[in-house]
Amino acid sequence: MAVRTTCPYCGVGCGLIARRAGEAAGAEVAGDASHPSNFGRLCSKGAALADTLGLENRLLHPRIRECAGAERASLEHASWERALDRVAEGFLRIAREHGPEAVAFYVSGQLLTEDYYVANKLMKGFIGGANIDTNSRLCMASAVAGHRLAFGGDLVPGCYEDFELADLVVLVGSNTAWCHPVLFQRIAEAKARRPQLRIVVIDPRRTSTCEIADLHLPIRPGTDVWLFNGLLAYLHRNGCADAEFVAKHTSGAAQALATAETSTADATELGRTCGIDPGRIETFFRIFANTPRVVTAFSQGVNQSTAGTDKVLSILNCHLLTARIGRPGMGPFSITGQPNAMGGREVGGMASQLAAHMEIENAAHRRIVQQFWASPRIADRPGLKAVELFEAIHAGRVRAVWIMATNPAVSLPDADRVREALARCELVVVSDCEADTETARLAHVLLPALAWGEKDGTVTSSERRISRQRAFLPAPGEARPDWWIVCEVAKRMGFGRYFDYAAPHEIFDEHARLSCTENDGSRMFDIGGLAGLTRERYDALEPVQWPVRSSAGRGPLVDRDDAKGVARLFTDGRFMHADRRARFVPTPPRAPAHAPDGEFPMVLNTGRIRDQWHTMTRTGRSSRLAEHRPEPFIDLNGQDALVAGVREGELARTVTRWGSMIGRVRTSGEMARGHVFVPMHWSAVVASDARAGALVSPAVDPVSGEPELKHTPAHIEPFHVDWFGVVASRRPIGGPKVAWWTLVRGEGWLRYELAGRGVPGAGADSTDWAEWARRLIGVPDDEEDFLDYFDEGSSIYRAAHLVGERLEACVYVSRRPELPARRWLASLFARPAIPDRDRAALLAGRPLASDAASTGAASDSGPLVCSCFAVGREAIASAIRAHGLRDVREVGARLKAGTNCGSCLPEIRALLAESASALSPSIQTAARGALSI
Ligand code: SF4
Repeated sequence: MAVRTTCPYCGVGCGLIARRAGEAAGAEVAGDASHPSNFGRLCSKGAALADTLGLENRLLHPRIRECAGAERASLEHASWERALDRVAEGFLRIAREHGPEAVAFYVSGQLLTEDYYVANKLMKGFIGGANIDTNSRLCMASAVAGHRLAFGGDLVPGCYEDFELADLVVLVGSNTAWCHPVLFQRIAEAKARRPQLRIVVIDPRRTSTCEIADLHLPIRPGTDVWLFNGLLAYLHRNGCADAEFVAKHTSGAAQALATAETSTADATELGRTCGIDPGRIETFFRIFANTPRVVTAFSQGVNQSTAGTDKVLSILNCHLLTARIGRPGMGPFSITGQPNAMGGREVGGMASQLAAHMEIENAAHRRIVQQFWASPRIADRPGLKAVELFEAIHAGRVRAVWIMATNPAVSLPDADRVREALARCELVVVSDCEADTETARLAHVLLPALAWGEKDGTVTSSERRISRQRAFLPAPGEARPDWWIVCEVAKRMGFGRYFDYAAPHEIFDEHARLSCTENDGSRMFDIGGLAGLTRERYDALEPVQWPVRSSAGRGPLVDRDDAKGVARLFTDGRFMHADRRARFVPTPPRAPAHAPDGEFPMVLNTGRIRDQWHTMTRTGRSSRLAEHRPEPFIDLNGQDALVAGVREGELARTVTRWGSMIGRVRTSGEMARGHVFVPMHWSAVVASDARAGALVSPAVDPVSGEPELKHTPAHIEPFHVDWFGVVASRRPIGGPKVAWWTLVRGEGWLRYELAGRGVPGAGADSTDWAEWARRLIGVPDDEEDFLDYFDEGSSIYRAAHLVGERLEACVYVSRRPELPARRWLASLFARPAIPDRDRAALLAGRPLASDAASTGAASDSGPLVCSCFAVGREAIASAIRAHGLRDVREVGARLKAGTNCGSCLPEIRALLAESASALSPSIQTAARGALSI
C-alpha cells in the first residue's frame, strides 16, 4: 500500500509517496504532488531513496561491550532487557554519584519530533540536568539565537511561497542548488516564469547556485556583518527606512544604525574588507533598496561562524528597517539543514531551551513545564552545547553520554579529539540504525533503532510545516523506535508512569497540549489545535504550518477550515518580546577566531556535496549517488594548486592546526585564491584519511555555540605516492593496508581506489604481485580461477578472479593515475559471464569482443552529472558540441539528462555556458546570465 511520507534528508521537507515493492526490502518512492513543500518535485537524493533501504550493515540487535576500552570485537549480542538495564543503571548510578551534569544526551535533527520530545523530557524533567544537545547545533543554532534576540522567539517569519512571490531573492552562504535542491528548483522555475525576479548569491565560492544568479558577490569568508551593516547604513542614508514601522513595532534602531555607520565607510573600503568589487556592492545595495519584495535566505555559510549570531542579526536588521517582514514575498528566511532541526527546537531538544519554546532561565516557564510533566525536578540552567559537551567528556566531567542517530566522531569539529573523548568516556551508548559508524565503534552499548521507512512520527521543515513520516516497511530484526527505547530506559529508572505511551500519537498529543498550556499568546509556538488527535486522525494529519491554535471546546482544529495553520508570522507587526516589539541588535563586526598566517595561509571551508548526506550512512548505500563525486576531494584555485605543487587528479593533503585529510585535487574554478573547500561526508568507514571534521577549529560563536566550520586556516601539500590502483570486488575487502584508499559503492559490487608507496607485494628478495593481489581480494587457493599479468616495462599489473564465468574481483595497478575507465568496470560486473575469448581483453582493460554494445565502453563519459540517467560530463559536453545544443531542454531531449529530479540542471547550464564561451564571449554572457545588473 502506498503511504504519504516525508523525505529524511534536508530541511525542505519534501513530501513523498512510498510503497513497498513486494516481500523483499525494495520500495518505490516518488514525489508527492499534493505536498505543499515540493508539489511532486524531488532532488537526486530523494529520488534515490529506494536504493538505500537494504538491511546490509543495519544494526538489528542490541550489543554490549563488557569492559571499557576493549576492542569493538568484544561487542556482543544482548537481549533488549539486558541492554536497557545496562543503560538505565549506568546513567542512574553516574547521575547519583556525580550529579545530573555528569550525564548527557547528544541527539539529532534526524530524530522525529516524538523521539526528541521524550528524550528532552527524560533529561530535563527526570534526570534533572540540561545536558541534551543536538547536531542541529552545528547547523542552525546561530539562526535560533538571532531569531530569539530580534523577534523574542525562534521564529521563521515566512514560507517557501515567498521565494516565488519576491522580486529579489538574496541567497547568503547557501549553495541552495546542492543543499536544498527542491527549494532551488522552485526559485529557478519562478525566475523562468518571471525573469524580472532577480537573484543575488553571496558566497565565497562560485557554486552551482550561481548558475541562476544575476549577481554573485564572492565575499571573503567571515565578513558578512560588514556587508550587511553597510547595507543597513545605505538603506538608512537613502531614505528606505519605514519610519512608521520602526517607531511602532521595533526598538533599538538608533544604536544598531550607529554601529553600522561606524563599521563601514564607503563602498571602496567595504569592497576591500569583503574582497568584493565595490561596483558589485553598490549594485547589490541599489537593487535591495529599490525592491520592496525581498527575501534574504541564509544557511550554513552564515550560521557556522564565531560571529554567526551577529551575521543573522545584521540580516534581520535590514529587513526590520525596511519593514520587509510578515508580508508576501518578503522577509529573512533561515534555510534549515536537517529534516527535523525545527521539530527538535519545538520540543526544546537543545541544551539552551526548555520545551515548547519555553526558556530554562525563566522561572514561570520552568514551573509550567514541571507541573505539566508532574516531574520530580526540572533543569534550572542551560546545559553544555555540543562542542563544550564533548570537551567536558574529554575532561571527565561528563561520564556517560547517549548518542542518538548521529555520528559526532566524524561530524564535530576537532573530530580526532571527539574520538579521543569517547574512547575515554565511562559509558557511551549509541542508538542508531547503522551497525558500523565511527561513533558506534566507540560504544559500550549499541541499540538498534528504526530507520526511515520503518518509523512513524512527525517532522517540521524550514517553513514551520509539520508533516508526517509514515512507516511503509516492517521493523527489521529487533530494531525499535527511538521513542520506545528512551521510554523503556525511563521506566527502568523508575519513571514508568510518566513515559507510558502506547504509540507516537500519544506523545504528539502531549507535546501539543504542553504548547498551549498557560499560553495566552505569549508563545508563538502553539499547536494546541492539534491536541487530542486520535490515532486515526494523527495518521491522516495533513502538512500544516504552525502555529495551529486551539479553540476551547471546539475539538481539534483539523476538523475545521482554519486547520491549515499560518503561512506568515508578524503580519500585524507584533513580535514576541514582552512589549511586542522587535529588537534591532547592534552588530559590531569581528574577524573569525583564527586568521591565516605564514604556516597556514589558506582558508578552509567545509560543506555538503550534491548527492551525499551527512556521513553517508544512508546515501552511501546508493551506487547512483556515489558517482557524482565518488572520492573525497580538495577543491582549490588553479594558481594555489601550482604554488602548492599539486595537480588536478593527484592526491594532496590539507593540514590545519587540528588535523589533516587526504583527497583528490580538484581545480573546479569555483574557488578564489587563498580558499580551499573539502566535503564533510567521508568517514574512516569509507576512506583511509578523509574526515573533514578532524581539520576544523573548535572555536564557537559565544552566543549560539555554533562552531566555525567555514573558516579554519590551512595549508595544502602534495601527497606523494608511487602507484595508483583500483580494485573492484563483489565482496568487501576491508580497509586495505596502503597509503590511501577510498571505497565507492557499485551496483552489487564495491570499488576501492588505492594509492601506495614502494612496490605492492615487495618482499625481502622479490616482488610477488600475484600473492599480494590474491591476499587483497581474498582468493583462497591455487584452485581458484585467477589470472594476472605484469608489464615490466610500464610497471602495470592486472589481475582478475572469476567464479564460474562470472567476474568476482579485479585489480589494476599503475605508476600513473590513469587506470581503466570506471564505467567499463561497472559494465563487467553487470555481465553474467566473461567468456574465455575475452580474458585477454579483461586483463588489458579494454572492451570485450563478446559485448557488441561495449564499443567505447573503455572510455569514461566523465564524472557523473545526471544521477537519475547516469549521464556523465563528457557525454553532455560532446553532445552540446556535436549537436549545437543551446539550452537544458535540448540537452534533456537528446540525453534525458536533467529531465527527472533536476538536481543536475545547474551543472548542465554550466557546461552549456562553457561551450558557449569557447565559441564567443558574448554568447557566454547570454547563456550564463549577466553577472552584474
Ligand atoms: Fe529530500 Fe531533496 Fe527534498 Fe531535501 S530537497 S527534502 S533532500 S527531496
